[in-house]
Amino acid sequence: AKADGRGSFRHFEPGMDAQMLERQRLELDLRMAVEKGEFSVHYQPLVNLEDQKVSGFEALLRWSHPVRGNIPPADFIPLAEETGLIDAIGRFVLEQACRDAVTWPDHMKVAVNLSPAQFRTTEVLATVVRALDLSGLRPARLDLEITESLLMDRSDGALQTLKALRELGVGISMDDFGTGYSSLSYLRSFPFTKIKIDKSFVKDLHASADSQAIVRAIVGLGRSMGMKVIAEGIENADDLDFLMQEGCAEGQGYLFSKPRPVSEMAELLESSPAQ
Ligand code: C2E
Ligand code: CA
Ligand code: CA
Ligand code: CA
Repeated sequence: AKADGRGSFRHFEPGMDAQMLERQRLELDLRMAVEKGEFSVHYQPLVNLEDQKVSGFEALLRWSHPVRGNIPPADFIPLAEETGLIDAIGRFVLEQACRDAVTWPDHMKVAVNLSPAQFRTTEVLATVVRALDLSGLRPARLDLEITESLLMDRSDGALQTLKALRELGVGISMDDFGTGYSSLSYLRSFPFTKIKIDKSFVKDLHASADSQAIVRAIVGLGRSMGMKVIAEGIENADDLDFLMQEGCAEGQGYLFSKPRPVSEMAELLESSPAQ
């Protein structure tokens, strides 16, 4: 047993030591990963449901660890957020995504995920400006995806930063819409240009009357508030059919394509001739 700061005793299970050690190791590896070039960005097509053409790509971070292989973002982003490493990682993703996007046809956008932790300072604004400047990408071709937890945690600073980003001309999407607590009031006070229906409502949509009602309501909400609506996690044709009938503007999911590395970009672009 070890004394903690308050003079009481906390017992450490043998397994817990191992867990902490593991975490420290991962943190050390994470610190080195950017410099060692272990991160890459994969791209998943966003499809215009009206004409079935690719309208852009979502950038999704991948970590290829030299020993452990591919580590999914869900397993290291939380650690990156806690340790502040997310700033450097986020900078990498933004710069890479903008650099890649300038090589695509001009009507295609790139969507980049931002973590709420990146809004702890105003640095994220400078990071976005820099990524646009370095690449020469038109701001209108960049969409930033944020989740509701950002708005809950630090509404004031975040609102100012989002407004400033919006003034630059970049789009702001509310990711995972419907999974938070009070999405509706946030839609009114924050400058969103797009709503992304969470994949939990899209999965088996054709077989769930509840999900259908929710999706219908979100599409109607987007339409009346002037926001584009995109559905993520489309895996089968029946779900796609429902979304198209309801007039959902865009879709994304394994039915169209999994996220793929830049080396396969030519193929992804070929399947979608520029208009
Ligand atoms: P997200 O932003 O909601 O991204 C969508 C996730 O759904 C991605 O998982 C994508 O691969 C997956 N997906 C796409 N289509 C389908 C489908 O048809 N079915 C299913 N079941 N899943 C599908 P991924 O790449 O593992 O990323 C997980 C999460 O990690 C992301 O969720 C996002 O929150 C976070 N993330 C990924 N890249 C970044 C990044 O560069 N920065 C930050 N801050 N977070 C990131
Ligand atoms: Ca996203
Ligand atoms: Ca999402
Ligand atoms: Ca998510």
